[in-house]
Amino acid sequence: MKSAWSDRDAEAAIAAYAPSGVPRDLALRIYSTRLLGRDPKLVLHGGGNTSLKTRLRDLAGDGVDVLCVKGSGWDMGTIEPAGLPAVRLAPLLKLRARDALSDEDMVRVQRANLIDPASPNPSVETLLHAFLPHAVVDHTHSTAILSIVDQANSRELCDEVYNGRIGFVPYVMPGFALAKAAADVFDKNPKVEGLILDKHGLFSFGKDARESYERTVELVTRAEERIAKNRKSVFVSAQLPQAAMPLADVAPILRGACALADEASEGAWRRLILDFRTSDQILNFVNGAEIARYANAGVVTPDHTIRTKNWPLVVTAPDAARPADTAQNIRAAAQAFIGNYRAYFARQNARAGNTKKMLDPLPRIALVPGVGLFGLSRSKKDAALVADLAEVAIESITDAEAIGRYQPISEADMFDMEYWSLEQAKLGGAKELPLAGQVSVVTGAGGAIGAATAKAFVIAGAEVVLLDIDENAAKKSASAIKGALAFGCDVTDAKAVQAAFDKIAAHFGGVDIVVSNAGAAWTGRIGEVSDEVLRKSFELNFFAHQNVAQAATRIMLAQGIGGCLLFNVSKASVNPGPDFGPYALPKAATFALVRQYALDYGKDGIRANGVNADRIRSGLLTADFLTERSKARGVSEKEYMSGNLLQREVTADDVAQAFVAQALALKTTGSIVTVDGGNIGAALR
Ligand code: ZN
Repeated sequence: MKSAWSDRDAEAAIAAYAPSGVPRDLALRIYSTRLLGRDPKLVLHGGGNTSLKTRLRDLAGDGVDVLCVKGSGWDMGTIEPAGLPAVRLAPLLKLRARDALSDEDMVRVQRANLIDPASPNPSVETLLHAFLPHAVVDHTHSTAILSIVDQANSRELCDEVYNGRIGFVPYVMPGFALAKAAADVFDKNPKVEGLILDKHGLFSFGKDARESYERTVELVTRAEERIAKNRKSVFVSAQLPQAAMPLADVAPILRGACALADEASEGAWRRLILDFRTSDQILNFVNGAEIARYANAGVVTPDHTIRTKNWPLVVTAPDAARPADTAQNIRAAAQAFIGNYRAYFARQNARAGNTKKMLDPLPRIALVPGVGLFGLSRSKKDAALVADLAEVAIESITDAEAIGRYQPISEADMFDMEYWSLEQAKLGGAKELPLAGQVSVVTGAGGAIGAATAKAFVIAGAEVVLLDIDENAAKKSASAIKGALAFGCDVTDAKAVQAAFDKIAAHFGGVDIVVSNAGAAWTGRIGEVSDEVLRKSFELNFFAHQNVAQAATRIMLAQGIGGCLLFNVSKASVNPGPDFGPYALPKAATFALVRQYALDYGKDGIRANGVNADRIRSGLLTADFLTERSKARGVSEKEYMSGNLLQREVTADDVAQAFVAQALALKTTGSIVTVDGGNIGAALR
């Protein structure tokens, strides 16, 4: 590992923060925290922490010795001064004399001594930072160091690599006990440049930011040199099928297998979103004949447990030639994982006095020989974060196996960490949104109704895919939606639709809700209209709905956890207007399509519903058309738009809300909802 320290950048940081009153040492502390946080081989996603001992003025203006330590919820790579809350140092130091301190009391003392009471909670490793005398302390979970400490003979390896330059702290769970143990090890040899925390990571320290940072770099480099030496080649590959199943076919099977039926609400599932990764290193790992041993040994550092769980789901290699067997194998492996997790919880909870409540037993990492790895979580963002952690874990375990045999903390230690209240607090207790974990697809997303619908589904917690024949229009509608997938797709082309749904399955793992919305109006007196116009309209206003529903149904069946097909049917399907035959006829067929899907797939838990909307300002109802119509009827545009029983204009948002309501109505299928402000002529009978 090379030092990324630059005097120029360091000075620039000092200059940038000076106007807001940030002192030089704190500015440098921020600069080096970012250097460390930017390297995924050192820390990832809020992992690791850093501190600075300095003197600041409290709110009353008095000078006070403080520890500025990373606050909960901040990422080292992007930290700002507010992410290093200042805590009075003296009260923290006093705690060292205690024999024990509960986690709750530790948090209380830390919070009570914040200089600014509005600060985030100081890191759970605050006391460890406080008890070391150095001005600057850095804590990382370097993958290279983890390869060395996750071994049965980790102490001897550290002696060999560091030759007395570091102190070795046997594994203790983070918190007060670890802080005391680490300080005791340091006191025995105050000349050391750092502390290795067995099965956990590295603490390095120094008189200033640069010294501590460069010691981290140096100590990590020694570990890298050791794992490059006398390597045995890993891993010997298992026998794999001749042809691996394509990602787009594997992902929905896996996603369905890793969903849990909601006991409180029949038809509801706890679903996860997938994030896929593959590379030579990942394939080398997942294809190994001994994967069951090294992949299931446990987490590389206890910090990962809350996001990744202690073990991944390992499945047998999917075989393109035997899709039914593959699906059965994956489902059996997922069931076994869930069973093992429940047994692990019961066993460890009994040891811990039956005080804990079980988290969901679903896997968070899935390893698929011949294919790659998946991160699984309740959102795409979290799934990607889990996949990042899985990638560094694979690197660490591969190197550990190359120089010895991977052996992390015990099952009991992992449980204590997974169910530690302070770790659970990091995930936050926020109530989940009603469509969390679901993937929704909206066609015609470039138009007003499509854009409003995509937005409404995101607000309800779903991941969203926006499709439109005009890729730029889809992207424009998606621009305000973080994490949305948007691309061009001609829904009248069955092959293009199939390819689009493959892409969606590969990206999110599958599909739960489809809003088949794309449409356009053609007109003509039915006895005189050209065959070409009528057929064109049927292609978009009927066959495209069938293409989309068919492609979605295929994925939903592979998942085996139901789904929801929603169609923009239109009022014209039951209440056509003069000369609107070319539009109304295919829409009437689409009305029948809704019922046919409801009928044929109800037993699979797939619901099919539609919305009959009328008079929405959109591409269909152009401004010119609106002017012409209102003129013809001798009313203002506003009067025309609200020409319904309620005398209210119906908007794209009203239609979007109807789709969301239908997605949530788990006991409703074959239903058409009118969103037209009231129109007796269009009422269903
Ligand atoms: Zn740590």
